[in-house]
Amino acid sequence: MKLQSYDELLHSKYRLSLLLFLALNLAASLFCCIPGTSLTPTTPTLPAIVIAISSALLLFALFFLSKRKLALLTLVAFFMGALWAWHITDKYLRGLYIDGVFLLFSLITIFFISAIALSDYLLAFCLHIAPASSAVLVLDQGEHRLLILFTLALPLIGFTLQHMMRRRSDRFTRQLVQQLYAEKESYSDLSMLDPLTGLYNRRGLKNRLANLPGDGTSNHFVLLLDIDHFKAYNDNYGHAMGDQALARVSVAIRDAVRSRDIVVRYGGEEFLVLLTNVDAAIAMKLAERIRQYVLNLEIPHLFNDRVATHVTLSAGIAPLNEAGFEAALANADRALYVAKHQGRNTLLAWENLSSARVVQTASAR
Ligand code: GH3
Ligand code: MG
Ligand code: MG
Repeated sequence: MKLQSYDELLHSKYRLSLLLFLALNLAASLFCCIPGTSLTPTTPTLPAIVIAISSALLLFALFFLSKRKLALLTLVAFFMGALWAWHITDKYLRGLYIDGVFLLFSLITIFFISAIALSDYLLAFCLHIAPASSAVLVLDQGEHRLLILFTLALPLIGFTLQHMMRRRSDRFTRQLVQQLYAEKESYSDLSMLDPLTGLYNRRGLKNRLANLPGDGTSNHFVLLLDIDHFKAYNDNYGHAMGDQALARVSVAIRDAVRSRDIVVRYGGEEFLVLLTNVDAAIAMKLAERIRQYVLNLEIPHLFNDRVATHVTLSAGIAPLNEAGFEAALANADRALYVAKHQGRNTLLAWENLSSARVVQTASAR
């Protein structure tokens, strides 16, 4: 999508203009080739036949062969213009048209084709009419110079002005589209982040999961973290202090892991870290580092009047395997649940649940 779609739109317009240009040339040249029409009492000219055949071939090629961008319009316009000039000269020199009507009629036909098909492409427009206009001016030998110049000048001035206006509006539309997409992107970025901590929210996680590089051999781990006794913290210190503690814990978690790890505020005082491309030993080390960093913040947490301690968290970790993210999350949650029951400030690996081996337990309360 984005600006590409606007460019695609312009490309399809270009293609349609080319098709229309060829179709009009084909129609005009066929008309010139029909014997017996008032303007062609003799055999058709060679250039008219060439125009008809090459237009038909190009039309066929464009219809059936490719939709890729082919920068043909300018070239084809000049080629056809030159053939029309040759056709006009050939006919005129046969001496069948003694007044300027034929020349004017021919000129108007060329202008008609250009005006219909090439009005958005000034260079192609000029290159198409230039050879025929020059031929007509030379052949007329000054007899209808004013009339011919007027016929040439009026549409040329008109199209140049129109072209300038279109260029301006095109630039404006392009800027507008660019701005719209930039704004859309920044809004969608914002809605993927949690406003209190600046970490990803669930939507952000979903987005990152969708773009997670997975070649089948990569090792990822889901780490689920929950602040211990946070309800009591809020009750003791108030919600505003609770928010501050949450923000500080978030920074500690982010600092403890690598930039490639995905850190998410998964719920109120729950965090999820997706440790990406990592082996089990390092994943455990990173998880343990988080637990330690949060403890090192030394945020006072007077849990009750008997125990004075700091804010801590408990964690469960599980590998992300073929069973998928939801299964890994459920496993990490089970490990977290047991970790809480093991006394909190504890990290537990899902694989060790059966033996309930506690990887790290600080002073149990
Ligand atoms: P446990 O050790 O078992 O996890 O106990 P807990 O008290 O942390 O768990 P519980 O689920 O009972 O309470 C979670 C508390 O987290 C309740 C709520 O007041 C607090 N909380 C959740 N979101 C926010 C928040 O955005 N700001 C603040 N200040 N507190 C929050
Ligand atoms: Mg909780
Ligand atoms: Mg909690």
